[in-house]
Amino acid sequence: MPKLFGTFGVRGVVNRELTPKLAFDLGLALATHLKGEGKVAVGYDNRTSSEMFEQAIVAGITAGGCDALRLGLTPTPVLSFAIRHFSCDAGIIITASHNPPEYNGIKFWDAEGAGFERTREREIEQIIAKKAWKRAPWQEIGSAREAGALEPYVGAILTRLPKFKRKLKVVVDCANAAGSVVTPRLLRELGCEVISMNCQLDGTFPGRPLEPIPENLAELAKTVVGCKADLGIAQDGDADRTLVVDERGKVLTGDRVFALAALYYLRERKHPRIVTTVATSAVLDDVASKLGGEVVRTRVGEPEIIGEFRTRGGDIGGEENGGVIFPDWLLCREGVMTAVKFIELLEREGMSASKVDASLPSYSQVKLRAKCPDKLKPKVLKALAKRFARHKLDRTDGLRVIFDDGWLLLRPSGTEPIFRCFAEARDGKRAEDLAKLGMRELKTCIKAAE
Ligand code: MG
Repeated sequence: MPKLFGTFGVRGVVNRELTPKLAFDLGLALATHLKGEGKVAVGYDNRTSSEMFEQAIVAGITAGGCDALRLGLTPTPVLSFAIRHFSCDAGIIITASHNPPEYNGIKFWDAEGAGFERTREREIEQIIAKKAWKRAPWQEIGSAREAGALEPYVGAILTRLPKFKRKLKVVVDCANAAGSVVTPRLLRELGCEVISMNCQLDGTFPGRPLEPIPENLAELAKTVVGCKADLGIAQDGDADRTLVVDERGKVLTGDRVFALAALYYLRERKHPRIVTTVATSAVLDDVASKLGGEVVRTRVGEPEIIGEFRTRGGDIGGEENGGVIFPDWLLCREGVMTAVKFIELLEREGMSASKVDASLPSYSQVKLRAKCPDKLKPKVLKALAKRFARHKLDRTDGLRVIFDDGWLLLRPSGTEPIFRCFAEARDGKRAEDLAKLGMRELKTCIKAAE
């Protein structure tokens, strides 16, 4: 059976891997999965192909007997919010997140506003592979109604938070993508002075590549310094990830934004539980020990973190890429709330962004990769575990080797024929040495497995 779903829904190049026909089939398969009953919220980002896919999906949903709630242009966290706000039974977001403009993607959400669990994705795949979808009889075709989710979403945040007392100057860079419709406006309503850049919607994304990583944020950093702003905010294509630039133009990585959000957000909680993955910085452990709490490390991926919240609970979750989850708000990575919370902490502490960042130890990270055919991965992983057997190991996902002064993660990618090699240490030279050691062992094991 062909695997349709990757780490974040179904993704592909428009009209090549991802066609309107497949979008229709996915809509119909979802309606079949829901037994032709209930209401599905549908939102999309501003890619040139998104409206086309929305029409196909809505046709599929209604053909299968479910009602569609058409939200129009919607950042991903707003879709998650809308599912609960409008009491929907499921949701669909059409976005390819940080991928280039020729891509698009389709992701399913459950009634609690969390991404579908893997087992439910497999069920959808089965329906499509076996063409086991069910079309509704004419009297039971679903309705397609329009609804606006932005106003209730902004309203819900504004009622939760008091207006900021200090007027911070913030440069907001939404990459001409979905965050443009909510982030600048919300921050203004909360009392910030907002300078927006790349906030005109444009599905060709001319401003910068959509992924919020330091190398794509040079213009933002320059603008923050040039405008003497307090900070910069950068979001990805669907606004579920946010990175921060401090007032000196330094980009804070996703790990640090997450760690700082956790440090301040959880301050009043007893023994807070921080849920993250094996790929995230040890700075989270520093935060947990400051707060008297604990860090729980899951396998890599948002569904793994959500799964942990559901089974054992947690106070905050996140990944190293800038996606922070505030489970008492929404069960999804929340780039908009991350921006709001970061500004709130600067405002409350009366500190600059660089000073807040300096309140946590700094780490150096090295991220490398080695080619490895999928079929060799289990054998290579086993061999690696043997070679590092003398060390403290975490085998939750791949192999995390824990040293006194750093860690090394050797993990087979779930989507590409590669092994990832991440190393981190307080000292830059040590991080590089660990990464070199990892790559050396990795190459030896791959060669032996061939
Ligand atoms: Mg995203």
